[in-house]
Amino acid sequence: MRSEFLPFTRPAINEEDIAAVGEVMRSGWITNGPKNVEFEEAVCRLTGNRYAVALTSATGGMHVLLKAMNIGPGDEVITPSLTWVSTINMIVQVGATPVFADIERDTLMVSAETVRSLITPRTKLILPVHYAGAPADLDAIRAVAGDIPVVEDAAHALGTYYKGRHVGAGGTAIYSFHAIKNITTGEGGMVVTDDAELARAVRMWKFHGIGCDAFDRQNRGRAPQAEVQFPGFKYNLTDMMAALGISQLKRLTAINARRRELAQYYRQQLAGVDGVLPLEAPAYEHTHAWHLFIVRVVSPQCSRDQFMADLKAENIGTGLHFRCAHLQKYYREAMGFQPGMLPNTEWNSDRICSLPLFPDMTERDVDDVVAAIKKVLA
Ligand SMILES: *Cc1c(COP(=O)(O)O)cnc(C)c1O
Repeated sequence: MRSEFLPFTRPAINEEDIAAVGEVMRSGWITNGPKNVEFEEAVCRLTGNRYAVALTSATGGMHVLLKAMNIGPGDEVITPSLTWVSTINMIVQVGATPVFADIERDTLMVSAETVRSLITPRTKLILPVHYAGAPADLDAIRAVAGDIPVVEDAAHALGTYYKGRHVGAGGTAIYSFHAIKNITTGEGGMVVTDDAELARAVRMWKFHGIGCDAFDRQNRGRAPQAEVQFPGFKYNLTDMMAALGISQLKRLTAINARRRELAQYYRQQLAGVDGVLPLEAPAYEHTHAWHLFIVRVVSPQCSRDQFMADLKAENIGTGLHFRCAHLQKYYREAMGFQPGMLPNTEWNSDRICSLPLFPDMTERDVDDVVAAIKKVLA
């Protein structure tokens, strides 16, 4: 057994990152300012989108995007239940109704066919998730969506390419820079889009519903008397976090390449192990960002929860991404969701487990995880 605990993830922070944050702290301007602008431009160059708006989190990004798209009571949003609960919470928070699409059993993605069957005259938005770092089938989903807007939850998908283009390109997507994501600002998020009006509205919603912020007033000569146009939120990212993001983003290619090597090594080492079933890669052409390495625990002797507890006793940390949203307390009680509604979602929700995967891990660490899995399942 390992003597030292192996966490399920650890951010890859280096001295350059620390120096970049320190520089902002010494500069006299620490809230959103020039580093936010630079971070937004760098993300646009990566994804190929025209506009990007940095925010304190992807959850905040979802909140303001729903507001900016004028989604509220009576509107339906089609999205998976197997996702981070923040998305569903924000849909409910703006007064709209989440409509859950079941997922493909072995990729965890919503399919265009499932989405099509759920579209009604009230559908105002389709919100697929690029799960674990692989892309959802965007062409097919956009085709069934027709005129209904599609927003991609790309929290797992910085560096994910679908048929040769970065996800989000030509559309609207939300990224997260939470501590466990492929690059991090501690907490942070980004909305990217090609729609100028939408970008402007998101920027206002994230800052009190005022047309300009402190940086605009001080440095860009914008009117200090700017007025509230509507009662917005306050979700602006600090420049300390933006500087960390810029520094991290420079290493994205290397970070994702290392994740890919480790994921491939996992796949080889787990190939003959009954009892755990890795996800499958989607059939269409793509580049995987390997945000998570997920297996399904399918051993008749060992439940997923037991598996996670036993691995912890072997000094191996794991994660659960995610427990389906529709069967959590609030959603069961307030919205009456019942087991059996979403068979593939529920089957996976009971069995998925994320194994340790982060760039500073070694192949020896993977060997330790695989040895512990074999022991736990024996
Ligand atoms: C992390 C995550 C989010 C939320 O990101 P935050 O920045 O923590 O708000 C949303 N959706 C998915 C799929 C995520 O994994």
